Amino acid sequence: MEKKTVKKPRRMGIPRQPMPKQKPEERTGNFNEVALGYTVELALEEAERCIQCRKPPCIKGCPVNINIPAFIQLISERKFIEAARKIKEDDVLPAMTGRVCPQEEQCEIQCVVGIKHKPVAIGRLERFAADFEAEHSEMDLPEMESSNGQKVAVVGSGPSGLTVAADCARMGYDVTVFEALHKPGGVLVYGIPEFRLPKNIVMREVDYLKKMGVKIVYDVCVGRTVTIRQLFDEGYKAIFLGLGAGLPRFMSIEGENLLGIYSANEFLTRINLMRAYKFPEYDTPIRIGHRVAVIGGGNVAMDSVRSALRFGAEEAHIIYRRSRPEMPAREEEIENAEEEGVLFDFLVNPLRYIGDENGWIKAIELIKMELGEPDASGRKRPVPIKGSEFIYKVDTVVVAIGQTVNPLLLDTTPEIKTNKWGYIKADPETGETSMKGVFAGGDIVTGEATVIAAMGAGRKAAKTIDAYLKNLRADQ
Ligand SMILES: Cc1cc2nc3c(=O)[nH]c(=O)nc-3n(C[C@H](O)[C@H](O)[C@H](O)COP(=O)(O)OP(=O)(O)OC[C@H]3O[C@@H](n4cnc5c(N)ncnc54)[C@H](O)[C@@H]3O)c2cc1C
Ligand code: SF4
Repeated sequence: MEKKTVKKPRRMGIPRQPMPKQKPEERTGNFNEVALGYTVELALEEAERCIQCRKPPCIKGCPVNINIPAFIQLISERKFIEAARKIKEDDVLPAMTGRVCPQEEQCEIQCVVGIKHKPVAIGRLERFAADFEAEHSEMDLPEMESSNGQKVAVVGSGPSGLTVAADCARMGYDVTVFEALHKPGGVLVYGIPEFRLPKNIVMREVDYLKKMGVKIVYDVCVGRTVTIRQLFDEGYKAIFLGLGAGLPRFMSIEGENLLGIYSANEFLTRINLMRAYKFPEYDTPIRIGHRVAVIGGGNVAMDSVRSALRFGAEEAHIIYRRSRPEMPAREEEIENAEEEGVLFDFLVNPLRYIGDENGWIKAIELIKMELGEPDASGRKRPVPIKGSEFIYKVDTVVVAIGQTVNPLLLDTTPEIKTNKWGYIKADPETGETSMKGVFAGGDIVTGEATVIAAMGAGRKAAKTIDAYLKNLRADQ
């Protein structure tokens, strides 16, 4: 009898499609987006790799549970706009999450294709669908419930606040977002650089919310310009706090106040929000020396060091107290930095900064470190090596060792309880705080996390706000 040969499906032979990018030598000379996005052909090829699992584990890996196989199937059928709309059922900001989410730790790590091959490039497909919709359609509004007349205030226009605003508007609430800065988007606008997340994309998604009826008021610092009590007096029935964690941390070592030492927060805000990269069109000063050292190993450090290169630093270094495997930055961003020529100095930590006679930074005293037992974060603890101190010449330093709570609102609202680190105590499932009618989510509750985690918290809070306000209506 002739032996039957079973043909492997074509999809099994398709490799993960690479992301087209600007060449490293070109991109360090501009602030344009590095990743160029999939073409239709690349997207179709990548979508073919999804085996449409019956019980898709990737959905569980996504903090907002996007129906991943469904949108990938729509891409396979060339229904790109429908694919974007499918994503938007769960994620109001897909062009942004497609670009900045750590998919490798969330949906893609769960993808079954990843067991034997590289996982399906879910994030790249998400970005493709969102961009296609924006370029080829009018961005139709989602189904909206009719207005119920109740007012909801959202404080902060970062990803958590924008998500609450969108969900509440969809449910028929009259939503106003109060933002302390003059632009919406939170870290998406003042922190993440143009070459990773173009600002016109953030504005496009914010415009979509405005089309849904969301109002945004700028230059209002809630807690100072107007208090929480005053917002209730003005008729707001529920208030969501999405304040983020925008206060930079320092190491409190000698010389930190020298000229030429920036917090990453100030450095990136000057570049992004105040458009220093468009100098002289925007008159924002920023001084970058020949040798720049960025202290830290997270996404913020990568964004800072890559920005320094684009500003003409001859040498841009990362100074990190652990080694490469412990770096918290996304792998993709570390690789981008390596391709661009960033130099990594591992297992060293600053002890003090040394200034010149005019008060400008000229050197750092560093100490070498070795890795000990894992600490509470599960990463190996860095331990200083006695007697290994040395002097390291620099012209500019950017400190990117983390952010914490800005106390402006919480200082004037003692009813809102905080934990020992100053973050708001809120129920992780509902967003409820200790103050009636006030809800919170995102970095102000969890500490520095991710865009999608902040959006997930916003989703949950919007549901609770809806239930809370429905009860209020029933009682009246
Ligand atoms: C440089 C940088 C790079 C990052 N890269 C990534 C990445 O690649 N991927 C990723 O997933 N995450 C990344 N993150 C983390 C991510 O951006 C945050 O976790 C996320 O933005 C948190 O969202 P949020 O809504 O809680 O707050 P935020 O985005 O911080 O927004 C808070 C907003 O509230 C406003 N506000 C604060 N106080 C008041 C007040 N009293 N009144 C009115 N408005 C107020 C602020 O001005 C701000 O606009 C990065 C963070 C930084 C700083
Ligand atoms: S786990 Fe991977 S293969 Fe399965 S549905 Fe999700 S993306 Fe597709």
